[in-house]
Amino acid sequence: MTRRRQYQKKYTANGRNCPSCGEDIGWAAGIKAIWPMSLMCPHCGEDLKYLDTRVVTSVMIVVAIFLIIAAFFISALLVPFQYQLLRIGLTAMFMMLLWIPVGLFAGKYLRSNKVLALKKDTGKMG
Ligand SMILES: [Zn+2]
Repeated sequence: MTRRRQYQKKYTANGRNCPSCGEDIGWAAGIKAIWPMSLMCPHCGEDLKYLDTRVVTSVMIVVAIFLIIAAFFISALLVPFQYQLLRIGLTAMFMMLLWIPVGLFAGKYLRSNKVLALKKDTGKMG
């Protein structure tokens, strides 16, 4: 068996199960990760990442920028100009609230379309 075949066999896993211990990493891990490149298995603590997430990451960056602007405008509408701190606080709060559905959607997409791998094995490839 060649190295390439071994590699493929090792990672014919899926986006749900940890390639190290085989347990389902669950929804919580996906949401906590926010960024698909950094994930941790809640069962064995291995650093994991999804392979081939360049498109997903790019989309998430665009969405994040949009959410920052949206959150800023929502709090600007609600809070008068002189209450700067309150505005900043509300902006951060709205950011987090708006990010939850994005995280859920991204998690769902990654779980069903992408493959989980150990971070230490994929580090060299970026
Ligand atoms: Zn694990």
